[in-house]
Amino acid sequence: MALYKNGNLLKQSQHANFDKTYSPGDPTPDPGIYRCLACGDEIGIAKGHKLPPQNHHQHRLGLGSIKWQLIVCSVSVN
Ligand SMILES: [Zn+2]
Repeated sequence: MALYKNGNLLKQSQHANFDKTYSPGDPTPDPGIYRCLACGDEIGIAKGHKLPPQNHHQHRLGLGSIKWQLIVCSVSVN
């Protein structure tokens, strides 16, 4: 689970992109922290980058398929 210290630096959002799930190698519409729904692993994705390919993030047998979900979106001000 992602951690933070200063809650005043984060703002809750109801944006629909937080409800979408993505497959390995998918381009991401938003930079930020993504969490795998099956194993709980979290990764940071820079602006314009893709999610890791299937052979980069792997699951042990029976864990299910890799599905990434945006949990924290970084906001650029420039
Ligand atoms: Zn996973």
